[in-house]
Amino acid sequence: MRSGALAAAALLTACLVAACGSQHHASRTGASVVLPTAPPKVVHPVVHHRTHPAAASKPAAPFHARAELITHGPRRGHDVALTFDADMTQVMLSKVRSGLHSIGYDPEIVRELRASHTQATIFMTGLWPTAHPAAANSLAADPLFEIENHSYDHAGWEPPCYGLPLVRSETDKRREVADTTNVLTGLIGGAPHYFRFPGGCHTAADVRLVASLGETPVQWDVVSGDPGQPNPAVVSRNVLQGARPGSIIVMHLVGAPNAPATAAALRTILPGLHQRGLHPVKLDELLGTGP
Ligand SMILES: [Zn+2]
Repeated sequence: MRSGALAAAALLTACLVAACGSQHHASRTGASVVLPTAPPKVVHPVVHHRTHPAAASKPAAPFHARAELITHGPRRGHDVALTFDADMTQVMLSKVRSGLHSIGYDPEIVRELRASHTQATIFMTGLWPTAHPAAANSLAADPLFEIENHSYDHAGWEPPCYGLPLVRSETDKRREVADTTNVLTGLIGGAPHYFRFPGGCHTAADVRLVASLGETPVQWDVVSGDPGQPNPAVVSRNVLQGARPGSIIVMHLVGAPNAPATAAALRTILPGLHQRGLHPVKLDELLGTGP
């Protein structure tokens, strides 16, 4: 078994186990791109309004971004947030276009959420609606779901970032946020409120940059470990042992081959949270920026 295939598999596993502190993100085999640097610009905070079709009952209140990395909500009460990262790199997109249509999306996850009327937040890359246009529209139209910004092409912001191609200049970081905001605004009828760094890789300056563009950076406090994990019992145990009031739980929407057990794990996680008295809500509600 000491073959090239095994070595490749080991490398893939290493990437999966490392990323997002949560075995995040596979299929990133693109070469690093060295981007030109540019002088920093002074950008005044943006106040976003949105009329989210997926939250039609929500008043279009102004959203004020916070220049801090949010990892959880209030530790009182019963609410938690299930968040699903919809990763899509250029490499993944090329696979979709070559006929591997399931790359980056497991509809069984959405079926589990809908069947149990469970609210969730999707952190969507700007490329994802290109790969899965019907699913993107369906998610955007469903009031169970809130769609937020997960960068445009899932490049890492601060090396080392688990083998992700890197975006280094401030100009290009702004583009990663703004281009995705434009895509998602067209999808959901308003600008996203939250941004999640690919792989979680960032600096303090990156946090301020995202906030200056009108979005609050959001990480997590509970790692599901769903990427690279074939055993749903492991994923569900990670979530149920870690979740407490206010938790932000990171999972993935991508399904097999990168995160094959997410949907199956939800069949244990959702009743398990209920048994613990925990109630999944969207981030806007957890963080007090919703209705
Ligand atoms: Zn991601």
